[in-house]
Amino acid sequence: MNSADSETLARRLLAAGYVEEPLDRADVAILNTCVVRQASEDRVYSKLHELREWKTPERTIALTGCLVGKEGAGLRSRFAHLDAVVPIGDYEPFVAELEARYDYSQGEALPHAGRTGVSHYVRVIQGCDHNCTFCIVPRVRGREKHVPIDAVVAECRQAVADGAREVVLLGQNVDDYHDPAGRGGLAALVRRVEAIPGLKRVRFLTSHPQDLEVELLEVMAESQVVCRELQLPVQSGDDAVLKRMARGYQTRHYRGIIETARRLMPDVGLATDVIVGFPGESEQAYLNTRALVEEIEFDVVHIAMYSPRPGTYAATRMADDVPHEEKLRRLNDLLALSRQIATRKTARWVGRDVEVLVEGRDELQRPFGRIRQGKRAVVLRGGDVRPGDVINIRVMQATAGQLLGLPAA
Ligand code: SF4
Repeated sequence: MNSADSETLARRLLAAGYVEEPLDRADVAILNTCVVRQASEDRVYSKLHELREWKTPERTIALTGCLVGKEGAGLRSRFAHLDAVVPIGDYEPFVAELEARYDYSQGEALPHAGRTGVSHYVRVIQGCDHNCTFCIVPRVRGREKHVPIDAVVAECRQAVADGAREVVLLGQNVDDYHDPAGRGGLAALVRRVEAIPGLKRVRFLTSHPQDLEVELLEVMAESQVVCRELQLPVQSGDDAVLKRMARGYQTRHYRGIIETARRLMPDVGLATDVIVGFPGESEQAYLNTRALVEEIEFDVVHIAMYSPRPGTYAATRMADDVPHEEKLRRLNDLLALSRQIATRKTARWVGRDVEVLVEGRDELQRPFGRIRQGKRAVVLRGGDVRPGDVINIRVMQATAGQLLGLPAA
């Protein structure tokens, strides 16, 4: 989501004639911030401190992103060298201020400045209407605002015209998407986007188990363009913990979605998020999560130790009662398990032909990209393969993190 916001602001500035420069040659530095964990927030403050040295009266420092939602304009009184605090998505007044301050009229204004790479992120919902008790997002990004379906399709078309081969539809809870004028939900949007000529792939994230609809899974199963990959955070495998998290579903419901997805797409890629050490998570509750991870065999598990975020329900009303060492033990245990599973699952791809959308070259100059199920793949002996190409490879080797293959005959 933050990458998409950075891209939007960068494209707007490039369109106004600005150019990207290394910090030592730049006039303006913009920090796009994340506060999902305390560590992310601390990094912002440390970066702001570093920029004190760089700041001169001629230079501008601006800050945008979730820290603005959390701390508001008060940031400027705490950091005297900060010139502008820019609310997420409300960039025009800031761009106007910059244009009044720096004359870039000699710069070439590009209506659709070519920042688009192989993948283009499109925000379809801003904010979130859920109230998970651990999460600060609704507070910092506000209630859901849905982008009209025609505007999303127009942005995707333009991205393809600018060179993108894949679009990624983004929402904190993307399954909740609906056109404000009642012209359909996420399945309808995905159907319209996948029909754009020249577009090779559509992905969407992040899904929510309470809102994901079977119709969407059917669209994924039928389409040659929509990727067969679900990012579906479970957060816990214990029903009592899920209830305290206010996630709005139980593990039985989650298992049902996975069963349907696998019936329609046996090879669907599955990624999830898990929090360990949530208030009141007993050893048995943790073991329930562990058992669910083992049973479902996710391809990727993003694991976080619970840390209370000020202002959330869990931080104000629940005791953070799992000791740090115990959280760490559960984190490491689950990491080891999910690595074993990932290794076992990627090995199943060896000998199969898969389609790769090439995104770039790795440190050994080998083309790499992703298969439709989301796994990273490296093309061995792919001399003339370019970013944006879609090629078939035969998988020769697999590690936990990636597949390696040769162009298929
Ligand atoms: Fe946060 Fe996601 Fe829950 Fe929304 S659905 S409150 S973004 S965890």
